[in-house]
Amino acid sequence: MATQRLFFALELPDTLQQQLVQWRADCFPAEAGTPVAAANLHLTLAFLGDVSDTTAARLQQLAARITQPAFTLDLDDAGHWPRPGVVWLGCQRAPRGLLQLADLLRAQAARHGCAQSAQPFHPHITLLRHATEQVALPPRQFHWRCDIQHFALLASVFRQGRTRYQAVARWPLRAASGV
Ligand code: ATP
Ligand code: MG
Repeated sequence: MATQRLFFALELPDTLQQQLVQWRADCFPAEAGTPVAAANLHLTLAFLGDVSDTTAARLQQLAARITQPAFTLDLDDAGHWPRPGVVWLGCQRAPRGLLQLADLLRAQAARHGCAQSAQPFHPHITLLRHATEQVALPPRQFHWRCDIQHFALLASVFRQGRTRYQAVARWPLRAASGV
């Protein structure tokens, strides 16, 4: 049976990806860890793992019915998780729209056999992998704002020694109401 490795995610605009890569190069020495490629900077909403085409199609039908409002990401937090060796960028206060969207996608995924981590959802963008234990985080003097108007289902494809993500489908979020 054909399967694909899939996950729901927020994609970042190219300009923001480039800005983050530049800032990361300024903040972290080369030995701090392995930088994630610019095009791979993303925020995972729900990881599905290897799923059949049938399950993928069903989850896409459900995703297409989601009517969640658009939101703004305030990227003003960073951290280091020593165990997975990850340095990440995130939000001091995650927007409610983001948490609701992730909750919904994770619940739908779980109902279709895609086990979800029992750990609380912590929205983040991985900047470095294989980070050294002593990696120094930059002072919290950064703040990027990014309007998120859609979410995506991405396929993770490992080929020729590299992982790339391919968009399988994208869905718009509802325009913010004019209040
Ligand atoms: P690599 O091929 O080096 O693993 P990757 O981690 O970018 O590259 P995937 O493992 O396919 O690619 O992961 C895609 C996204 O899903 C990433 O954001 C990753 O952190 C997340 N992810 C992977 N496995 C899990 C998991 N078991 N639970 C939750 N999120 C996961
Ligand atoms: Mg991985």
